[in-house]
Amino acid sequence: MTTDILKERQAWTLAQKVDHALATIDVFISRMGGIDKVYCSFSGGKDSTVLLHLCRVLYPDILAVFCSTGNEYPEIIQFVREQAKKGANIQVIRPEITPRQVWAKYGFPLVGKETAQKVHKVRFNPNTVTASIIMGTGFFCLAKKWRYLLTEPYETSSQCCDILKKRPFHKFEKITGRSPIIGVMADESDLRKGQYIKAGGCNVFGEKAASRPLSIWTEADVWQYIEEQRLDIAEIYHKGAARTGCMGCGFGAQFADDRRFSILLDNHPKAYDMVMNYTNNGVTFREALRKALAVNGRYLPDEEPKNLFTSPSC
Ligand code: SF4
Repeated sequence: MTTDILKERQAWTLAQKVDHALATIDVFISRMGGIDKVYCSFSGGKDSTVLLHLCRVLYPDILAVFCSTGNEYPEIIQFVREQAKKGANIQVIRPEITPRQVWAKYGFPLVGKETAQKVHKVRFNPNTVTASIIMGTGFFCLAKKWRYLLTEPYETSSQCCDILKKRPFHKFEKITGRSPIIGVMADESDLRKGQYIKAGGCNVFGEKAASRPLSIWTEADVWQYIEEQRLDIAEIYHKGAARTGCMGCGFGAQFADDRRFSILLDNHPKAYDMVMNYTNNGVTFREALRKALAVNGRYLPDEEPKNLFTSPSC
């Protein structure tokens, strides 16, 4: 598998990609020994909604597993319930601790996963070779603008996803012996692209067996499929959310076009306040996020300075 082959496949028509995804799912289930040996990972987001639809074209009773982390938009929970009422076979699993407890114990998810990992490594093992690389100027260094996080009174953590999402799924897989069908796409990030190329395709067998039938799809394909198949999607997309994910995650919130906290404040002000008041080492998430946003000249949505157009005097 090479980047060129991936690009070639990403350029296929949607009809070709649908055929390919269905064949991928079918081969995976057959090789794993039937639908009792697999499950469809279902987050309630648009990608996994498409994935579940494709799985159910072949196997209407396939088990879908939804991990309720306590950090989902209410619209997502509602959507998952509706899908179950309409006949989808959905099992709900949960992490052992709440988002509030994870952030209090391990730190806030700020900036991005890789940045949070670097901050954590240097804070906890400052005298290692790894730390000196991170603090250097090379490709793997920590960007200068985020180095203030090294001396903040609160921790910055990348462990949240592991504890709230990965662990519950791993536990479920261990107990049931089922392997996942996952709705990720190589198009999402360099990390995913690398994973696809390394795996050599959508299906992986052996100890870490998993199927990723949407690997060669793009976001545009997902929207086209939703439109063509007239699929219902979670209401939060109709309220402006581009991604569902966790409603209060700080990863990526610093980008200029990110509106997640505005959408949360507008639609769920109580949940917004709740997340802003999560603490680590006595510091609130509001204080930590305010500082991270300020690095890129941004503000929390309820702290935006008034301008000529919002001032009551104009
Ligand atoms: S997406 Fe963010 S808030 Fe959600 S589990 Fe991962 S790090 Fe935590």
